[in-house]
Amino acid sequence: MTSMSPLSAESDGVVPLGHGVYQVDTLFHRAHFDAAYLVVDDGHAAFIDTGTGLAVPRLLAALEALGLRREQVDWVIPTHVHLDHAGGVGPLMQQLPAARALVHPRGARHLIDPSALYQGALAVYGQEEMDRSYGTLVPVPAERVVESEDGQQLPLGQRVLTLIDSPGHAKHHHAIWDPVSRGWFTGDTFGLSYRELDVDGQPWVLPTTTPVQFDPAALRQTIARLMASQPECMYLTHYGRCAPVEPMARQLLGLLDKVETLGLRLRHAPQRHEALKQGLAQIYRASLLATGSTLPGAEIDRLLDMDIELNAQGMGVWLDRLPA
Ligand SMILES: [Zn+2]
Repeated sequence: MTSMSPLSAESDGVVPLGHGVYQVDTLFHRAHFDAAYLVVDDGHAAFIDTGTGLAVPRLLAALEALGLRREQVDWVIPTHVHLDHAGGVGPLMQQLPAARALVHPRGARHLIDPSALYQGALAVYGQEEMDRSYGTLVPVPAERVVESEDGQQLPLGQRVLTLIDSPGHAKHHHAIWDPVSRGWFTGDTFGLSYRELDVDGQPWVLPTTTPVQFDPAALRQTIARLMASQPECMYLTHYGRCAPVEPMARQLLGLLDKVETLGLRLRHAPQRHEALKQGLAQIYRASLLATGSTLPGAEIDRLLDMDIELNAQGMGVWLDRLPA
């Protein structure tokens, strides 16, 4: 169905990952930070995560580069309703006449009425940053929103995707299994992994502990559930197709233990937020060094600065929620 070579598609910002899976860089925050995926099978297509509303022209250009008509998109599936994953769902749906949005039941109302999401983000980031990085949010008509179920089978062309409830990062998070490439679209449940931090092709991954629903026990269960299907790869929103999966899972769970211990140790510390940030930075850096990374400290800081700030914030929320 594609009239263009993969190479020309790639020059338009679409990266073919094999088995009908394509990656689009939404360019949120920086290049190679926030991905949207397009799964194409037998003339049918689904977007998984969209980036923010500002990414929509790039997503539409990706369809065009692949020779797909907008009517061929059946589904838009945000992994969860945080704005770097779902901010583009509303404006994208306006351009896709046949698509429905498939969302976790706890996220559905936020797609239909995004005002609470917007106000929440506005309170954290301020108006200038909202305008610059997020744009405006567009409601999705309720009749075009479908709530996912744990274990749901979703036909797409010749393949059948499976959705599972995947709490730990957010309670409104589901993950999507592609049986053809044997990979999970993990949203933010299988951590963050930037290609700049790979060592000898092995991805290095850190758990996201960002606000406001980080739950380490639930996250461990979700990771175990993802691993039970013996995946060959993981499609991380931040960022890209990652493999081999087994060593990533070991490393991710190891870091999760470390950051949980750190949080519990600093629970009542004075200036806890700063202490958490310092502790996280030390844990990440030690782990990177242990993998053999030779990246200069300044480059590590550049890549992880925002994550350290947000992860420390999320750990604070988690610690305040713990029973006394
Ligand atoms: Zn995210």
